[in-house]
Amino acid sequence: MDLRERRSMNNRYKIEVTRKRIKNMYLRVKDTDGTLSVSAPYGMSDTEIRKFVESKSDWIEQTTQKMLIARQLKEQEPVLAPFMEREIRLELKRQLQRLIDKWEPVMGVKSAGFTIKKMKTRWGSCNVKSHHMNFNLLLAKVPPECAEYVVVHELTHLLEPSHNARFWSLMEYYLPGSKELRKQLAGFSAKDMI
Ligand SMILES: [Zn+2]
Repeated sequence: MDLRERRSMNNRYKIEVTRKRIKNMYLRVKDTDGTLSVSAPYGMSDTEIRKFVESKSDWIEQTTQKMLIARQLKEQEPVLAPFMEREIRLELKRQLQRLIDKWEPVMGVKSAGFTIKKMKTRWGSCNVKSHHMNFNLLLAKVPPECAEYVVVHELTHLLEPSHNARFWSLMEYYLPGSKELRKQLAGFSAKDMI
């Protein structure tokens, strides 16, 4: 493994370090999200921990592969690889931010950040008091115009909190054809997206 590979490995994995009263370092891969969990003695420097993790890179690759296969077999349905999910989340975050930056000045509203979540029944939500929004991770899989619909929908709630006639006419004003997009979006269910 050369230096460049080492660096990319550090960027690729999320590493959580827990210091304990132990003599040796221990490493495990969390099967929830692929995070590397390192238990290290007090006083162990970050450089030493990093070296330790790097020395285990082959084991990490093999273990995460095995974990993914085991999970796929168990669930009998395709799952998002944890690393893939992280990439998808990052890309969706950029996409949503671009849309928010585009629409806020047009609509004269200002949101207060957003969180991407796995949600079963909603594509998005907006807290009209805090102006914080939530978006469904599965928006990464719908056509971009449908994701745009959801962003405009949540921003419209900053102008009109409830789904009343004013709300829908504002939606239609900003996004002509929004009813069609809404129908299109309703055709996607979380089940199809996984
Ligand atoms: Zn709504």
